[in-house]
Amino acid sequence: MAESYEITCSCGDVRVRLSGVPRVRGHCHCNACRTVLNVPYHSVTAWNPDQVEVTSEPDRLVTFQHPDFAIKKVFCAGCGEVLYNTNKMDWRVVSQLLLSKSIGHLPPELSSLSHFHYAARIVDVNDDLPKKD
Ligand SMILES: [Zn+2]
Ligand SMILES: [Zn+2]
Repeated sequence: MAESYEITCSCGDVRVRLSGVPRVRGHCHCNACRTVLNVPYHSVTAWNPDQVEVTSEPDRLVTFQHPDFAIKKVFCAGCGEVLYNTNKMDWRVVSQLLLSKSIGHLPPELSSLSHFHYAARIVDVNDDLPKKD
């Protein structure tokens, strides 16, 4: 059975359905995530483009191409909340926090399996997950 999950922004204008199993789920410590999103690290699920479907009016979505990184931010025109960002493979990178907020909890099958780009970190994390560079 294929799972699907719906994420929505704070104002509710944008709804996005994610289907299937994410390619990647983990805590990303790369400089690009940190710089573009102003976070110490980015707790993510990453999906192929064909797993991600905008189910609300498409004109409410705004795409911003970052000038320095191969990352686009895709956010709501009404409330500014980022629904996902893309990476250089054009995967859709969805925050675990947004999933948690939208669903009411973070489903265990979407939680992090590892830390990656850990050598680029600015904070140490003392948990039992594998740390990959
Ligand atoms: Zn919104
Ligand atoms: Zn990253």
